[in-house]
Amino acid sequence: MTFETGFSIVYIAGASRSGSTVIEDYLARRFGGVACGELYRISQFAKGHARIVLEDGAQETCACGAPVSECSFWHAVSKEAELDLAQSALRSQLGRWQRAWFRLFVRLFGSRMTKWTSKLFPPFKRELEVGANCLRVYRAISCVAKVNLIVDSSKQTHQYYILKAVAPESIRLITLLRDGRAVSASMTKGPRGEAIASKIKARTGLSPAPKDVAEEAFRAWMHSTLNGLLAFAFTSRRRRALLYYEAFCDDPPGEMQRIERRFSLTEQNHVHESHAIGGSPSRHTVGFDVICADNSWKRQAPTHEKSLSTISARFLNRLLGYRE
Ligand SMILES: [Zn+2]
Repeated sequence: MTFETGFSIVYIAGASRSGSTVIEDYLARRFGGVACGELYRISQFAKGHARIVLEDGAQETCACGAPVSECSFWHAVSKEAELDLAQSALRSQLGRWQRAWFRLFVRLFGSRMTKWTSKLFPPFKRELEVGANCLRVYRAISCVAKVNLIVDSSKQTHQYYILKAVAPESIRLITLLRDGRAVSASMTKGPRGEAIASKIKARTGLSPAPKDVAEEAFRAWMHSTLNGLLAFAFTSRRRRALLYYEAFCDDPPGEMQRIERRFSLTEQNHVHESHAIGGSPSRHTVGFDVICADNSWKRQAPTHEKSLSTISARFLNRLLGYRE
């Protein structure tokens, strides 16, 4: 493979709770790459931000079990990149509307025009600096781990556009899809569900009913899924792939062969130690030898989560091929 950066990035976009942790691990192991997890959150991890503190007061750690500030891998990456991971801008620095403009611009005019426009428009310049910082971190990961493939499961589509603007030749997009009912059932469980409930309460002043929490989760799923599909639509054919979580669980090697052909990857089966951050706690498990679709929501979820209660969410789910 030849890229402008000397390495390639497979970026997974889509809704959270869609199985991206299992998929990034499988991809990295099969193609001899490194799964870095949700790289856009690395600063939170490096500085021990409140958003990575768990219910019991402990911090979320790197997949190796150490806090990122004590992990030798991330320490080496920071040194190689000559960047302080806790202080550097590695995710969007713009407000909501400026972010929307940036995405629209990258979609319509591509990388070269965005770079040119950034000379005249400081917000775009700031966003490209974020992209440049991310590339420095990817390059450092590639050097430290001695790999030329990095799998990033940040899922945020805006982050994808930032990377696409700075290195369009090096980035490949996987838009990950999963049944909206499964995603929302997973999102409304435990602390995530409580976080959604307190967000609604802050907005309305009322304690939400479980049905309201489920609807909020459907909306979040719909938003991320539509953004992932939009990014897919505006990416060239050889640099993009759609992946259904359920299809992957049914036939992991078959789905990976499809990705391999599409992105011209080479099977290597060389396993590197994982230092992924963010995502599902399953990242602490070394290797997922048995891939099994998580269908527990069909048994456990209450009725209001099993049937998509908003018409638009039901329509999108059906459009994606999921039948009730
Ligand atoms: Zn680590």
